[in-house]
Amino acid sequence: MTEIINNCIPNAGSASSSAGSARGLPGDAAEEEVGSGYLELEELRFENRYSRLAGEFLSRHRPEPLENQFLIHFNSRAARLLDLDPEQAERRDLAELFTVQKPWPGVDPLAMCYAGHQFGQYVPRLGDGRALLLGQVRNRAGEIWDLHLKGSGLTLYSRQGDGKAVLRSTIREYLASVAMAGLGIPTTHALAMFGSDEEVYRESIETGAMIVRMAPSHLRFGTFEYFFYRQQFDALRMLADYAMDQHFPGLRKVGNPYLSLLETVVRTTAALIAHWQSVGFCHGVMNTDNMSIHGITIDYGPYGFMDTYRSDHVCNHSDHAGRYAFDRQPPIALFNLSCLAQSLLPVIDDDPERAAGMAMEVLQAYEGIFEQEYLSLKRSKLGLKRKEKGDGALYDDLLTLMQSVGMDFTITFRLLGENPSRIDVRSAFLDMAGAERERARRWLEALQFRIQSEDADPDGRSDGMKKTNPRIVLRNHIAEQAIRCARDDRDFSEIGRLTEVFSNPYEDSQESDRYAGPPPQWAAGLSVSCSS
Ligand code: AMP
Ligand code: MG
Repeated sequence: MTEIINNCIPNAGSASSSAGSARGLPGDAAEEEVGSGYLELEELRFENRYSRLAGEFLSRHRPEPLENQFLIHFNSRAARLLDLDPEQAERRDLAELFTVQKPWPGVDPLAMCYAGHQFGQYVPRLGDGRALLLGQVRNRAGEIWDLHLKGSGLTLYSRQGDGKAVLRSTIREYLASVAMAGLGIPTTHALAMFGSDEEVYRESIETGAMIVRMAPSHLRFGTFEYFFYRQQFDALRMLADYAMDQHFPGLRKVGNPYLSLLETVVRTTAALIAHWQSVGFCHGVMNTDNMSIHGITIDYGPYGFMDTYRSDHVCNHSDHAGRYAFDRQPPIALFNLSCLAQSLLPVIDDDPERAAGMAMEVLQAYEGIFEQEYLSLKRSKLGLKRKEKGDGALYDDLLTLMQSVGMDFTITFRLLGENPSRIDVRSAFLDMAGAERERARRWLEALQFRIQSEDADPDGRSDGMKKTNPRIVLRNHIAEQAIRCARDDRDFSEIGRLTEVFSNPYEDSQESDRYAGPPPQWAAGLSVSCSS
């Protein structure tokens, strides 16, 4: 029987540890600096500019604490992005501070308003139904980080929901953001996670939990759609101006800043999707309210990293039509970008036709940018440095082969980084019958022929490939094991282990051994849905 791990239904309207890259998480080197001028929570410098937009942009609420709430995990790497002392994890009043039962200067909780296309249908008002923006922190490097508390109770935008998040989906979001950061893929970051004894009703009775996450902002494509569809163009301009002043000040200096904002989002989104495809990541709910204007992965729900490769893999059990299948992600991102572009038309130019023409031109660049980004990752994954015409096709042939044979995405690519003449590589590729074995043999030969045209030494090539082909990805069964320990035994140690191991997914290590294999038999029936 299918076992639902759960977590959007189409048209349904312990202590310290850790995960590096531009706006990514600091690496292990930062570990040594602990204590050198790090701040306490009360010393963080808040600059809450979003709250100044006021009016229809937001609604102020206080978080609702959960019954017997307790810290499950604190992410020291994420803390450092705020200059926050990881030792703050030891504070007994942590949950009270994050749920604002204790005064915390600068914190001014609010729910953000947005709309969005959900499974292709426009929903005019969504908003933070179970989350609050606690405040915006400026760190010493001058970066702004939103602190966002999810699972914090009812807001003006809760609709039929209860404002809560359950433990399993909170663990999945926490681990996913650690794993994506470890892979070097732009993402929100998880700062802390809290559990509780509070009963929350889904398909069965579960317990409530909260995650504190961080992002440059929580502005979504849907935030712009909200004001466009209501024809509140002054508010739309305020929002776009806010976004630029706060996050993209450089764009103010160019000819048409609003068009440049769109260009920027097109570029970063294309790069993000190429990254997703390169590691077999399926988001699951690419609604426009789940798309960040920063080109980062946001709102982890029924996501999944592929085990056996299938181009049309659907990770969300509730997505019956397969709208968000793996191979649909690149065109869906373009659809979502078109929704954003449409919403920006009134500020791009007063003449609607001219605005549409300019936006169209920007959107037309998406495919080329995506293909370039993806091709560059494909080459890296195959260990190719020089650019040759047939490289993309060589990669795509491998995907076709993997699908017809039923090969594991992550393991296959990792094996390719080994010397192709090694026995385990050859057996992984050639341990098959008849025509498929012949195809695999020919593909390996083609790769070897292509590699010989480069003068890179095999060891260097192999090292390079290990930096694009992760040894481990956060497969469903790995997260599920951590969830079961947490839920059934109140044992959160696996979450700590996973946070460490998945911060370095490209490394061969003893710790990663147990996560490097294909899913075990018991996991065959696992599936994830929108319940969360
Ligand atoms: P998601 O599928 O998590 O991206 O959520 C889609 C929308 O539904 C967002 O506006 C959420 O805030 C809202 N939502 C999801 N779950 C709940 C809940 N349990 N209570 C209130 N609102 C919710
Ligand atoms: Mg969402």
